[in-house]
Amino acid sequence: MSNFFGYFSNDIGIDLGTANTLVYVKDKGIVLREPSVVALDTQTRKVRAVGIEAKKMLGRTPGNITAIRPMKDGVIADFDVTEAMLRYFIQKASQSFRAPPRVVIAIPSGITAVEKRAVMDSATHAGARKVITIPEPMAAAIGVGLPIDEPAANMIVDIGGGTTEIAVISLNGIVFSKSIRVAGDELDAAIINYMKRAYNLLIGERTAEEIKITIGSAYPLQEEKLMDVKGRDSVAGLPKTIQITSQEIREALSDTIAAIVDAVRTTLERCPPELSADLVDRGFVMAGGGSLIRGIDQLLSEKTGLPVTIADDPLSAVANGTGAVLNDLSWLMDNV
Ligand code: ADP
Ligand code: MG
Repeated sequence: MSNFFGYFSNDIGIDLGTANTLVYVKDKGIVLREPSVVALDTQTRKVRAVGIEAKKMLGRTPGNITAIRPMKDGVIADFDVTEAMLRYFIQKASQSFRAPPRVVIAIPSGITAVEKRAVMDSATHAGARKVITIPEPMAAAIGVGLPIDEPAANMIVDIGGGTTEIAVISLNGIVFSKSIRVAGDELDAAIINYMKRAYNLLIGERTAEEIKITIGSAYPLQEEKLMDVKGRDSVAGLPKTIQITSQEIREALSDTIAAIVDAVRTTLERCPPELSADLVDRGFVMAGGGSLIRGIDQLLSEKTGLPVTIADDPLSAVANGTGAVLNDLSWLMDNV
């Protein structure tokens, strides 16, 4: 089959996420999945590591290295670093290609036109022959298999690291979307604050994330959980271990989760009535790593009165969506 780029292709799709970047190679599937983190030499700004290697350094760097997340809040904090990161991922994924790849990049919907241009330029500098962007919620909706070309409401809620993206899509277009800078990172921050307030225990972001993933929840659990947490006592200054319960972590997360619930409700309130009517039966689909917090689907269903489904592989939804788009790039030319 040919697409508008021609017959032979080595096209790739990229989910440029605030926490993780995934690369999909056409006809192969997802070939790369790494944290969106870059470690830099503080003095020279030279890149020391990207992805998994760089994430291991977060919070553990000596003075001469800093590990940063260039996409952190869903905006591009540092163009040069974003470009270095894209270059690393594009080159890693296209090593065996005979020609520079053509690239579809899913970008946060809250990004400005200038930032979008910068991502496209970065990808070009990083070795892409041609670059097309697609709004992230659109890619997520395609990736989870919603029939977005129908004249009916398709709603997606994608809770990532830095942003939660909510969109209602009909006839291949976004009818309404909302992007808030409240997602997984804010949940981690809430846990850090709680541990400090309740136990004088200082913990890092990685430990907070581990607590969230191991015992975090948005709705009461059938069987509540316990976990030992290690950190530094802020008063004595020494390492110590504290045992915490899933109930107290749920309480610590509740304000942040309430902000996500609010954003979903606001989106529903702004939805045109015919589409609202569709949603009563169709409900919405959740994607992104944040949708894996225990009971978030149950809570959202209770707060909206709608059926809620979590995507089969929520962390891969956007990348799979870019992959589906690669098979029909002409679709993008008509619709995005
Ligand atoms: P982004 O698209 O912004 O890169 P992702 O969709 O990759 O984000 O999701 C990353 C977020 O999901 C992180 O905040 C991570 O802590 C969170 N996450 C991953 N797995 C889980 C889990 N099992 N439970 C709760 N949160 C999770
Ligand atoms: Mg994402």
